[in-house]
Amino acid sequence: MNKNLSVVGRSVSVRAPGKVNVSLKVGPLRDDGYHSVASVYLAVSLYEEVTATATASDQITVSINPASTLDLDGVDIPLDERNLAYRAAALMAEVSTESTGVHLDILKRVPVAGGMGGGSADAAAALLACNTLWNAGLSREELAELAAELGADVPFALLGGAAVGLGVGDKLTPALAKEPLEWVLVGAGFGLSTPAVFAELDRLRASEGRDVEPPHEVDAAIVQAVRAADPQALSQVLVNDMQRAAISLAPQLKETIGLGESWGALAGIVSGSGPTVALLMPGRGDALEMAERLRHAGMDAQAVHGPVHGARILSDTQRG
Ligand code: ATP
Repeated sequence: MNKNLSVVGRSVSVRAPGKVNVSLKVGPLRDDGYHSVASVYLAVSLYEEVTATATASDQITVSINPASTLDLDGVDIPLDERNLAYRAAALMAEVSTESTGVHLDILKRVPVAGGMGGGSADAAAALLACNTLWNAGLSREELAELAAELGADVPFALLGGAAVGLGVGDKLTPALAKEPLEWVLVGAGFGLSTPAVFAELDRLRASEGRDVEPPHEVDAAIVQAVRAADPQALSQVLVNDMQRAAISLAPQLKETIGLGESWGALAGIVSGSGPTVALLMPGRGDALEMAERLRHAGMDAQAVHGPVHGARILSDTQRG
């Protein structure tokens, strides 16, 4: 790392959204260990905030602060090179001529291992923050290429909005949705490992002797419903191949979806690999009421909307 001491003390804060998949079709296990997917991502108004501060050391350090709505008791998040935000900063340092040591402080709102891409949001935020901190001048397209090296969901956290994702989820086409849809997110209080849920899906399919084809496209009706911000239409076509694998590992998720639907959600779906459940609501008032009612029943619930913007700079300050 090149010690550019003139930026020491400069802090750049970036926020990046969590996501729900309103459609997630999963192909068979490939030889490279990945699964092809066809997905419709929706960025929702639950944001991670990463503040990158240039330091005089030549280290990357990470700290994590949970927002008041998030309980991190008993949750293990690595702070070393296994942390996705750390890896994002290390990758940016490789391509920046003016990199320094950096401290990444992560304000966490997205449930950990919740199927909402929280770590991916941290990585996207760290990429954009370090790009600014070190005056690296990478374009959004160049940042997206680095993002894809970090993980399948990282390019979407950078882009935000609504988008169709093919490949492993990284080949994105924006869906240009303007109006938001209203959701209630129900946290499970525990995490599910994404690889474990994929493995469970493979196991279930093998036990049924079912061959699946790699998905090459998403149902046009889903993209149309998202573009039109039509919750009734979307509720008819929500699909997640991972859902039954997540429910197989955590059967209580089925009850959460059932409860939400019996209390007025148009539909409920496991988000990504779970265990967070996303309930699609007719309108904002309904979402606020549902979240309140679920919290009253002792559950972890919050009303959000989406699509929202992708990674965005909140502040850029020089101390001292
Ligand atoms: P996805 O839906 O993208 O598969 P997820 O939302 O289910 O992911 P994350 O919260 O992104 O899950 O993280 C999954 C695991 O990755 C965690 O259990 C943790 O060990 C590790 N991890 C690495 N970096 C981070 C980070 N910045 N925040 C949270 N977890 C991280």
